[in-house]
Formats: sequence, C-alpha cells, structure tokens
Amino acid sequence: MNNSGKNRRLDRKNRQAGGDIADLRRDAETRLQERTGSLTELSGRDKEELIHELGTYQIELEMQNEELRRTQEDLRDSRRRLADLFDFAPVGYFILDPKGIITSVNLTGASMLGWSGNDLPQKPFALFVARKDRDGLHLYLRETLRKRGRQVADLELLGKGNTPFHARLESIPVDDGAGRLEIRTSVIDITEQKKKELEITHLNSELRRANEDLLHYVFIISHDLQEPLRTITSFVQLLQRKYNDILDDKGKTFMRHIVESAGHMRMLLDDLLVYSSIEDSKPGRATVSLEKIVDNIRSSMAEKIKETGAVITTGSLPLVQGDETLFTGLLQNLISNSIKYRSASLPRIHVTAESRENKWIICVRDNGIGIDPQYAEQIFKIFQRLHLKNEYEGGTGIGLAICRKIVERYGGRIWVESSVQGAAFCFSLPKMDHYA
Ligand code: ADP
Repeated sequence: MNNSGKNRRLDRKNRQAGGDIADLRRDAETRLQERTGSLTELSGRDKEELIHELGTYQIELEMQNEELRRTQEDLRDSRRRLADLFDFAPVGYFILDPKGIITSVNLTGASMLGWSGNDLPQKPFALFVARKDRDGLHLYLRETLRKRGRQVADLELLGKGNTPFHARLESIPVDDGAGRLEIRTSVIDITEQKKKELEITHLNSELRRANEDLLHYVFIISHDLQEPLRTITSFVQLLQRKYNDILDDKGKTFMRHIVESAGHMRMLLDDLLVYSSIEDSKPGRATVSLEKIVDNIRSSMAEKIKETGAVITTGSLPLVQGDETLFTGLLQNLISNSIKYRSASLPRIHVTAESRENKWIICVRDNGIGIDPQYAEQIFKIFQRLHLKNEYEGGTGIGLAICRKIVERYGGRIWVESSVQGAAFCFSLPKMDHYA
C-alpha cells in the first residue's frame, strides 16, 4: 500500500482517539474537498482502495453512533437512579443559597415539611423554622459559611399544618461549580429521640428526688432512734452496775450481749447519720491540707496506733479544695480499716499523692489481709462486708460507702488495688481550681 493510504489510516486512528464529532466532520469535509480535486489523478487501484476505505469508515461511524446511543441511555439510567436515591433517601436533603433560600429539595425533605417538591424552591428555609429558632437558624447558616466546614444544629421545624417537630440539621457549604457557594443540608426528624431524652431526664430527676427523700428519711430515723437507744444503753449500764452481782453466768452473758448490741446499734446509727447527711451538705471549697489531716488522724487515733503498733507514713501530700471534715472522715475511714484488717505483721500504712493532669491520685496502702479482686466493686456498696461482725472488731459495712459518696461529691472516683500483701485504696480528686 502506498504512503498516502497509511497516513489516512493513521489520521483516522488519531481522530478516533482524541477528536470529537464536530472535529471529525470538519476534517472529513476538508479532506473530501482536497481529494475531489485530485481524483482524476488516482489510478484505478487507488480508487478501489479509497472506496473500500470509505465503506469501512462509514461502518466505523455507524458503530460509534451505536456506542454513543448506548452511553446516552446508560447515562439517563444512572441519572434516574441517582434522582431516586436523592428523592427517597431516608433523610431530607435541602440545597440552600447563601441567603437561606431553598434552591433544591428531595421528596423526603419536602414531605417532612408537608409540601410537594416542586413548590418549595425559591422559598426561604426560615419559613419552615419555628419562630423561636429563626435567629438560631440565621446564626447557624452564617457560621456554616464562615467556618467553611460541617456544622450541626438541633432546631424546631414546622411540618404539615405547621406542626412543630425536632430536627437535626447537618450542613456543609459547597462550591456550586460556577463560583457560588451553596449550603447542602441534611435534615433528620429527632422528635422520638428528644422525647426519650426528656423522659430520661424526667425519670432521672424523679429518681434523684426519691433518693433524696429516702436519705432524708434515713437521716430522721437514725437521728430519732438515738434518743431511745441512749436511754436503753444507760439503763442497761445501770442494771449492770447495780445488779451484776446477783446475776448468774447466763444472766451476765445476756447482759453482755445487750451492751454489745446497743454499742453496735449506736455505731450503725452514727454511720447512717453521716451517710445520709453527705448529700444534703453543699460541697465545701476551702483550701485543705491533706498533710495536716493525716497528722490530726494520727493524734485522734493515738491510742489505737499504740495498741496495734501501727506506723503511718506519708509521701508529700498536697493542698486540695474541699471540706476538711469530709476529707478527714474519708482518710480516717481508710486508715482505720487498714489497722482493723491487719495481718499477723505490724500494720504499716503509707499515704501517697500522685499528680495526674488535672487531678490528684491519693492512695492509702497497707500490709494487711488484702482483698480478693472479685469483691473490689461490692465493698463500696452500703452494708457490704466481707467478714462476720465478730471476726474483726466493730464494723457496720457503711465506711467505704461513705468514702465513695464523699469522693463522688467532689467529682472523683475511688477504687481498691489488691497486691500480694495488703490493699491500696486510691481515690482521685480534682486539683485546686479544676472542679467542674
Ligand atoms: P466495715 O465497717 O465492715 O469495715 P467498710 O465499708 O469500711 O465496712 O468495709 C467493707 C468491707 O471491705 C470490710 O468488711 C472488709 O471486708 C473490707 N475492707 C475494707 N478495708 C479493707 C482493708 N484495708 N483491707 C482488707 N479488707 C478491707
């Protein structure tokens, strides 16, 4: 084949690769004009070849046409599918201009507002926002445009017949391709969720009130029972003093049980009184030295410390914000437990403080009998004891519950860590000026 034939094929391939239909046509017309001038100079063989090539060219064009038609159909199909996805998505979808005018909306969005899709464009979105939330909407749209990022707001919208419903809006500003910004906003109806949240808040406040009532009730009972208990105790003591000699052994044992039980009951009432009064008191915010508190505990427990040979040491302890009486009660409960639940070794108690970001972690470590980790949660509940009353001297099962209440009152947490020897009771407290 001659060179002009090869070039024609090459040209055609290049056109197929890059050219569009208008270019193709323009090219073809120019070439036809060039050729008709020189057709007379072509040999018979060249002419046959040219006719064959034109035939092939025509078939190729028909095939391209067919392909184009199919592509257009596919495109129409995907457009239809996308439109369906857009219209029937489970969320309302609104496109707003920067002034908050609706430019496009899907069917879900339109029906949320009780309108048909065609009637909404060109209406201000604010028309469908409850009056009380309109300023909020304007602020929200302004912020979305200013921050150029995704924003979320909960607003009350007006649905069919102006019925208000709670909605969560999520908006993002997007360039519309022509240099203008549009705000694409999805809307979901959160009325049910809001209703549940309100129910939970309501139930919580009822629960809190019931709890407060209960604590108040416990406070009154434990307070009122103290008076008759005092009378019982003093009369029993009187009986013991005056008539012990005429009692036989059985009578003496009975009397001892009565005295012990009255003592235990007084301890219970005292602890219950403390437990039930913690909630009432406003948490104090005085500057309190933990170092000084431990010193005072050492003095007030001097007798017990001497009797048991306990040694109480401290690391460097900080100043914290709180109520000195409550913090004294907290540390005294932990330290006296460390002495009470001692092992065969002499009790060694070490109080430390560790700084962790905005809080202090205070630990009271001992070398006592330790605690099985499976009871680590249980022991902080009221009346939960791991030992019988007579196994270890006087206990009510309220001490650690009091400790937990005090720590939680100040936004902290209390837990126990058990080691091979002994236990460590640790609690967190916010540092000064870091209370919520
Ligand atoms: P209790 O009046 O019985 O001491 P608490 O609430 O203070 O009540 O403690 C609950 C239980 O936790 C105790 O009965 C005891 O079994 C266990 N416990 C508390 N402190 C310690 C400790 N330092 N070492 C081992 N066990 C402890």
